[in-house]
Amino acid sequence: MISVDVRSVTKAWGETLALDDVSFSVKKGDLVVLLGPSGCGKSTMLRLIAGLDEPASGVIAIEGRDARGLTGSARGVAMVFQSYALFPHLTVADNITFGLSVRGVAKQEAARRLDRIVALLGLEALLHRKPAQLSGGQQQRVALGRALIAEAPVCLLDEPLSNLDAQLRQELRREIRALQQRLGITMIYVTHDQSEAMSMADRVILMRAGHIEQNGAPVELYERPATLFTARFIGGTPMNFLDLDDGPGGAVIAGGDGPALFSDSGRGRVLGLRPEDVTVDRENGHARFHATVTAVEYLGAEAVVTCVMGSRSVLARTRGDGAPPVGALVGLGWDASAEHIFDAESRGRLAIKRGAESRPPQLQTIANQGVTCA
Ligand code: ADP
Ligand code: MG
Repeated sequence: MISVDVRSVTKAWGETLALDDVSFSVKKGDLVVLLGPSGCGKSTMLRLIAGLDEPASGVIAIEGRDARGLTGSARGVAMVFQSYALFPHLTVADNITFGLSVRGVAKQEAARRLDRIVALLGLEALLHRKPAQLSGGQQQRVALGRALIAEAPVCLLDEPLSNLDAQLRQELRREIRALQQRLGITMIYVTHDQSEAMSMADRVILMRAGHIEQNGAPVELYERPATLFTARFIGGTPMNFLDLDDGPGGAVIAGGDGPALFSDSGRGRVLGLRPEDVTVDRENGHARFHATVTAVEYLGAEAVVTCVMGSRSVLARTRGDGAPPVGALVGLGWDASAEHIFDAESRGRLAIKRGAESRPPQLQTIANQGVTCA
C-alpha cells in the first residue's frame, strides 16, 4: 500500500524553482531517504508533505487522501526538525506530551503512551529535566519522542542528526532505523550524508537542483548509478572518472597506454571505477595497467592509495596492512563488471554488452563486445 504519494509537485520561492515537477511514492512501513546537496529542495519537499507550505501545482496524497488544505495532524504526519525546537521552560515529559493535549488525547492515554516512548528511547532518568540540562543526543531523543508519541502513520525527519558528533550520529541512526522497523511507521528522512542514507533506507531518492536524479534501493544507486551525478555522490571514497578515447582495438583510457576496454568507440564517454573495485598489485609484469603510487592514506583496516597512470590519477582502496609504499610501481586491475560507462555529454549511464564479464581481467577478450545506450 502507498502511504505518501507525491505527483508532479512544483514549488517556487520567488525566482527560485525549489521543486520542479517532482513525483515519487512511499510504501507503507518503508524508510525513504531524501538525499542531496544543500539547496536541492529536500526541506521544501518535507514541509509540503507536512502541510507547513502548499505546492504551487501538483498533488500530495497521504494514506490515500488528497492532503490539500489539511493540517499536519489531520494528514497523519509528525515532523522532527533539525533544530529540535524543544520548549526550554518545559520538562522532558511535558515536551514529549505537549502535542497530545493540543490534539485532545485523554490524560490516561497520554500517560500510557509516554511510558512506552520513554522506555523505547531510554529517557526514564531524564523526565523531569529541562532541555538546557540535556546533551545534544538526549535533546534529539526528546524531539524524536515528541514526534513518535503522536502515533501518526507518517513521520518526517529533517536532518535530525546533523548537529551531533560523528559517533553519536552513527549510534542514533541505528536506533532510529530499529525503532521505525519495530513500530512499523512510514518514515521520510532528509539528509545530505550519503552514508546515513545508504545505511538506513529502504529506498533513496537522490535530488539535485529541484528534481529527482535517481530513486531506488541503496544497492541500485551504488551498483548501477544512472548518472554521473549519482555515481559521484554515492560511495565512501569518490568514484574515479577517466575519459575514454578511440584506440586501435576500441575504447581506451585517454592519455594512458593500456589496452582497449571494449570494442566500440570510446570518445565522448567516461569510465567510472569505484576505488574499492580497483586492485593494486606489486607484481606488475602481467598487469594490463601500470601505475606509480604517489600517496597512501592509512585508515586502519583500509588504505586509500593514489596511483598515477599515464596522465591520470586513480584512487584504489586496499587493506590497511597491504598498501604499497609511495614510489612503488604497481599493476592496476579491475573486473569488467566494475566498469561504469557514462556519456560525457548527456551524463547518463550507458549499458555495455559483454561476452565475458565474469572472467578475470588478464583473460578477458575484447572480441564480440558492443556498446548500446541504456
Ligand atoms: P535543502 O533542504 O535541500 O538544503 P531547501 O528546500 O531548503 O533545500 O531549499 C531549496 C531552494 O529553495 C534553495 O535555493 C533555497 O535557498 C530556497 N528556499 C527555501 N526556503 C525558502 C524560503 N522560505 N524563501 C526563499 N527561498 C527559499
Ligand atoms: Mg534543508
